[in-house]
This record gives sequence, C-alpha cells and structure tokens, in this order.
Amino acid sequence: MSQPARILVTGAGGFIGHHLVNRLAAEGHWVRGVDLKYPEYQSSAADEFEIRDLRKWDECLMATRDSIDEVYNLAADMGGIGYITAFPAAIARNNTLINAHMLEAARQHQVRRFLFSSSACVYAQGKQIHTEVKPLAEEDAFPADPEPGYGWEKLFAEELCSYYWQDYQFETRIVRFHNVYGPLGTYDGGREKAPAAISRKVALAAEDGEIEVWGDGRQTRSFMYVDDCIEGLIRIMASDCHGALNLGTDELVTIDQLVDLVCEVAGKRLTKRHNLAGPQGVRGRNSDNRRLRTTLGWEPSILLRQGLSLTYPWIEQQLRANGRKAEAMAAPNGSLARSMAILGDDCAFRNAHV
Ligand code: NAD
Repeated sequence: MSQPARILVTGAGGFIGHHLVNRLAAEGHWVRGVDLKYPEYQSSAADEFEIRDLRKWDECLMATRDSIDEVYNLAADMGGIGYITAFPAAIARNNTLINAHMLEAARQHQVRRFLFSSSACVYAQGKQIHTEVKPLAEEDAFPADPEPGYGWEKLFAEELCSYYWQDYQFETRIVRFHNVYGPLGTYDGGREKAPAAISRKVALAAEDGEIEVWGDGRQTRSFMYVDDCIEGLIRIMASDCHGALNLGTDELVTIDQLVDLVCEVAGKRLTKRHNLAGPQGVRGRNSDNRRLRTTLGWEPSILLRQGLSLTYPWIEQQLRANGRKAEAMAAPNGSLARSMAILGDDCAFRNAHV
C-alpha cells in the first residue's frame, strides 16, 4: 500500500467514483467525496461526503480545501451515445466549467497531483469508420476530430492539464477510459452504457423473446470491467506520466457478440431485432495499450465474459428488487413493446449504446 494520503474524489456519487472511494478507503487513505448526489445503490465509504455543484468556482475552492494531496476529477455530465448526442451544448458547458475550475482550485490549494478522467470519445472520428478498426494509440486524437460536444470538451480539458504542467509544473495525469462497466453502474434512465443496457434488456425479456439492438449489431467496441479501471487509475496517479494514457482492454467484440455473451451468462436464447435508426456512435473503436504497458508494466486483464458474469446478476437482482422483472415476465410473450410500456420510458431503450 502507498503512504496514506488525503484524497478528493469528484463524481464520488457516480459509478467509477464510488468504486474508487471504496478502494482508496479500504487502503487506509482519508477520502473526501464530492458530487451533486449521493451514490444510488450503496452508502459511500468516504470519510467526508459533500454535495456540491462543481461548475461553480467557490464550490471547487471548498472541495479542494484543507491540504488535499491528490484529486481524482471524475465529475462529469455524461451518459451513453444517445445522451451525449442529444445534449452537446449542456454537456460541453457543464464539463468545461467543472474541469477548468477544479484544475485551478486544486493548483491554488497546492494539491500534489490531479488526475483528469478523459474518454476514448476524444479520438478522431475518421479513424473509427471500420468495424475491423486499428486499435487507437494516444496520438490518434490528432489531427482533432473528436465526438461533437463531449469529445471536444474532454480533448480541451486534456490540453488544459498539459498547459498547467508546462506553465506551472502542476502535476497532472490524463486517463482515457474505454467503456467501463460493472455492478453499481447506471442501468436505466437514459445515461447507461451498452453492457448495462443490454443486460437490462436481456433480464427483462421472456425466454425465447426478442431484444432490440441499435444498428446492424456489427459495430465494434472493447469494454473494461470496473475493477481493472480502478486498478489502472491508482497506478496512473502513482506514475510519472504527464501525457494521455489509454485505459481499456483490447478485447474487441461486435455489439451482437456482446448480446450473445450476456444471453449466455443469463442462460437465455433471444432473437435480435436490429434497429437501424438507433444512434450507434463510431463504427469501430479499440484501445491500443502499448503505451500503458510500457508506462505501468500492467494492463487490464479481466475478460468480458468474466466481467459480465459479475455484472448481469447484479442488474437482474436490481430489477427483481424493484419489481420490474416480475412484471416484464408476466407480459404476454414478454414482448419488447410490453417491456417498454412497463418501464414507461422508451428513452431507457434508446440512450445506451456507446
Ligand atoms: P457517472 O455519471 O456515474 O459519474 C459522474 C458523476 O459526476 C455523477 O455522479 C454526477 O452526479 C457527477 N456530476 C455531474 N455534474 C456534476 C457537478 N456539476 N458537480 C458535481 N458532480 C457532478 O459516470 P462514470 O461512468 O462514473 O464516469 C466518471 C468519469 O469517467 C467521467 O468524467 C466520465 O466522463 C469518464 N468516462 C467514463 C466512461 C465510462 O465508460 N463509464 C468512459 C469514458 C469516460
């Protein structure tokens, strides 16, 4: 274990932030969590948990007060591809404010290290037009052509971190996540990502029922289990790397293969119905981990099948606990339309597949 430190995690009420707080607290660090909301499914292990809106400068100053050693800046307005394509103005504005204010507040309070959580959405879209995509190496973010809104603000915040290092020698770390999934993640409501959305749809479908898949199902992605993500975050913070680093797996699968894996874990046989009108994001995206391996001597290793076998049961259990599964199973033929009516929220089906 590293020396106990005083650590601030922003976005601690969210998926990755909550897991990170658990791990840091278990390692004996003093942790302050900050978010707009408390974690949804479990109470936080943070020593202090404060509700703050980090778009505001004063709130960022308060969040970084009292000799904080390290900041993991995970707070962001974000969601799956449906969400980020629907609200680019709000997302770009909210996140630009959070990142600029957090960086400067941390510098003024002489925080030792600041980690910024970026995204594979910074990569140039023109390099992601084939399903058999070449894994994206860090330099593939330039010439810049990122995802509109969310990708541009992430890329700009990366640059801002680099300027703070160049101009002030402020110790910044930049992590580009590739699709993180696992238990305690959002699985409905519109902000969920593909593994969670598909797990929910599979859990709600009746035996021999149908599942809607956005696009032709041949679009490709890689997915990282949350334990690998947390391990990588802590290792990158401890490293001396100031440049951006991919943090993901290079286990490339099609969305159809992801559906098949979830069905296998669930023990269900479902028919896929492809919805070509649904948002799909880029055609293919994979992580080139060469720089990560060289820098850390480590890379994520949890296979998708393993991760899903831990994630699916949690989502199924959540649905069961709030009564949705039982209702859906009672629907005539367990039809998708019926399931959507039960959810009362077709957005939950539309906004999920990054
Ligand atoms: P999440 O939505 O579960 O967590 C983000 C948290 O930030 C939420 O709890 C939200 O309430 C909080 N937040 C938003 N606006 C805020 C504000 N103004 N003030 C304070 N808190 C605010 O998302 P996550 O999956 O845990 O993602 C964490 C970070 O990783 C984000 O920066 C995200 O962009 C990045 N990321 C995640 C993924 C992924 O696959 N999960 C992929 C790429 C990048």
